[in-house]
Amino acid sequence: MADWRNPPKLYIPGPVYVRPDVLEQLSRPTLGHRDKNYAQLHGEVVDMLKKVLYTEQNVFLSTSSASGIWEAGMRNLVGENDTVLCTMCGAFSDKWADVGKACGKNVDELKVEWGQPVTTEMIDKKLAAGKYAAIALVYNETSTGVTNQLYEVAEMMKAKYPDVLVMVDAVSAMVGLPIHFDKLGWDLVLASVQKCFAIPPGLAVAAVSKRALEKAKTVKGRGYYFDFVEFAKMAEKNQTPTTPAIPHIMALHYQCTRLLSEGMENVWNRHATMASYVQGWAKDRFGLFAEEKYASKTLTTVKNTRNIPVGDVIKSIQSKYNVAFGNGYGKLKDVTFRIAHMGDITLEDMKQLTGWIDAEIGAQ
Ligand SMILES: *Cc1c(COP(=O)(O)O)cnc(C)c1O
Repeated sequence: MADWRNPPKLYIPGPVYVRPDVLEQLSRPTLGHRDKNYAQLHGEVVDMLKKVLYTEQNVFLSTSSASGIWEAGMRNLVGENDTVLCTMCGAFSDKWADVGKACGKNVDELKVEWGQPVTTEMIDKKLAAGKYAAIALVYNETSTGVTNQLYEVAEMMKAKYPDVLVMVDAVSAMVGLPIHFDKLGWDLVLASVQKCFAIPPGLAVAAVSKRALEKAKTVKGRGYYFDFVEFAKMAEKNQTPTTPAIPHIMALHYQCTRLLSEGMENVWNRHATMASYVQGWAKDRFGLFAEEKYASKTLTTVKNTRNIPVGDVIKSIQSKYNVAFGNGYGKLKDVTFRIAHMGDITLEDMKQLTGWIDAEIGAQ
């Protein structure tokens, strides 16, 4: 029987498993958000995030899920006479385009089949043919397990379309995959903390370039809650425009401290090691849904080549071991399943889980 007080350990692609010592950070005494104590906390977290993201530009903390920053990107960086090119390769990037339309923006679509990446060539061709003020990209499409080659895209953009603002959804990538924000020349990168930061949901992180902020000042209808200009004004005092999720920011302080002491290269390698193990297992027993070159290092989407009853297997393993992994997303529900290897999940966890799946399906 389901009981939220005794939930399964999460191997789904977000929210992910949170360590007990991280959970403890959420129960510290609260602070007044206009007090010096809070400003100290805020300043320290932002300084650490700048190191995590390799940026010297703006870093904002938003008390929302990542979707709030989707909206912020559209409302702050895309003006009324602008067109934004939305690149779409799965459920999340599809949704970001919907958000743009819901904000009343002119959205043009570059869409590929689920499971395919959006390539540099496709983007180049599209940008050459139209006039775009901004482009929306997803680094790691969580619904399909595809990682787009955004370092390559960035080089092309810097060389050929330096005036187009680059907005990147890195929700399931940030921390797990490299992000050198300034070097990439991006203008917005966003993530929520319940993915690779391994914190409970309730907070989002955004890096915003200086030129994006200048652009925002010229855009009408930025709204209230996600106005980057307000965020920037309050950031000067190490504050946020409205009362933030202070417990989450304390947990983020703790996690950033851990990440930086491990070293970002080591953190990325740790994710790559887990990915390589899970992908190897998946190829042996089933197949990979994504082409290997594009297979994500933070989650693996397994192609259900054995036609196992995915829902039943997940249910059975959950009832025996109280762990949960993911079925396929949306239309991929039964033809794939997803194992997340992001955040504080370990290689040992992965070996245990794949062993349990093997036992369940009678493979070895
Ligand atoms: C989880 C996810 C989102 C949505 O994030 P929320 O924090 O739920 O708003 C968006 N994009 C990607 C790629 C995701 O994995």
